[in-house]
Amino acid sequence: MNVLVINCGSSSLKYQLLDMNSEKLLVKGLCERIGIDGFLKHSAPSKNYEANVPMPDHEAAVKVVMDALIDKDHGVLTSMSEIHAIGHRVVHGGERFSDSVVITDEVEQAIEDCCDIAPLHNPPNLIGIRACKKIMPGVPQVGVFDTAFHATMPEKAYLYAIPYELYEKYKIRKYGFHGTSHKYVSTLAAEMLGKPYDQAKVVTCHLGNGASVCAVDKGRSIDTSMGFTPLEGLAMGTRSGDIDPAVIPFVMQKEDMTAQQVLDVLNKKSGMMGISCVSSDFRDLATAAEQGNKRAEASLEVFCYRVAQYVGSYAASMNGLDAVVFTAGIGENDSYVREKVCSYLGFLGLEIDTEKNKQRGQAMDFSKPDAKVRALAIPTNEELVIARDTKMALKG
Ligand code: ADP
Repeated sequence: MNVLVINCGSSSLKYQLLDMNSEKLLVKGLCERIGIDGFLKHSAPSKNYEANVPMPDHEAAVKVVMDALIDKDHGVLTSMSEIHAIGHRVVHGGERFSDSVVITDEVEQAIEDCCDIAPLHNPPNLIGIRACKKIMPGVPQVGVFDTAFHATMPEKAYLYAIPYELYEKYKIRKYGFHGTSHKYVSTLAAEMLGKPYDQAKVVTCHLGNGASVCAVDKGRSIDTSMGFTPLEGLAMGTRSGDIDPAVIPFVMQKEDMTAQQVLDVLNKKSGMMGISCVSSDFRDLATAAEQGNKRAEASLEVFCYRVAQYVGSYAASMNGLDAVVFTAGIGENDSYVREKVCSYLGFLGLEIDTEKNKQRGQAMDFSKPDAKVRALAIPTNEELVIARDTKMALKG
């Protein structure tokens, strides 16, 4: 069974084709600059192919992907009929979806209803679904939601302390994101610990451009750092994370900005970029800090301090901790960030082997042999989770 995984953003479309009998990745790629001009990066086992291809809209991009998949030179299929199902990453499932589902007209409508609370993310996801439906009618499609894994959070974790009627009327509450990644790495962490998933207490740190921490207690998400939107929680590449909400009207007044403009600043010009004025990329920040740039150094300090604070508070939420897991671009690669975060957590029983920690890009336990709490780095694989869920949803 071949599953095409689609992750559709506002101007990009990432794809992977997996053979789900063997879970083997057949090909992956990326369409960039959709609606601008269009650029395809296609990585097949035998050949990497890159080209400027016009992509006036997402439907055109999906057609470009289909052509690339069946191309005689760099394709991996002989015809489109060899695509048996499509799995879509959908960012926000609201309170409606606690699991992956086959996309019907009703599900499509429910995803559309969530656009109100996820205006940046759900519309492009929906465009991707509709484009695939049009180009491949009859191929079953499944929605896999970033929020679904967090549906197990208890009320005390997801309720904001605001008038209850705002929750009732508008569903303003914590939802959490990166669920597929937190689920994947926490499952592998339990295996590495040699513990059944339903007995392990794990804090997972998904540290990429967007970043969140999750408390996974006995296989269930019981709390996570992102909230109503992916802006809450950790300081990120360009996002502020937690701030005092009173800052918003203050800046509006002082800088003569609208609420939307301040929100744009908090989403796109804050975080590491905002503090350092250098970059949102941790490699650039590390280089700048080494060269003596104090603000680059300060931004890294802020980032690591806040990750450690969340890990500590989630150890309290779970009344114990077996392991801390680092994943995504920064978590998998940045040994400085891992070491710095762990340096705050010795009181919990975390002790790392600094030599082992220098390795990157592979699953590893980089704790000292007798450390009570294990420090793990595990490469995430959200596409594999989406493909697995797609297969399961179609079986179920
Ligand atoms: P997203 O999927 O949220 O866009 P990723 O998980 O791909 O993000 O993470 C991207 C970030 O990972 C980059 O911005 C960079 O800061 C960081 N990163 C990637 N490779 C390295 C590396 N070798 N060392 C340090 N940081 C890295």
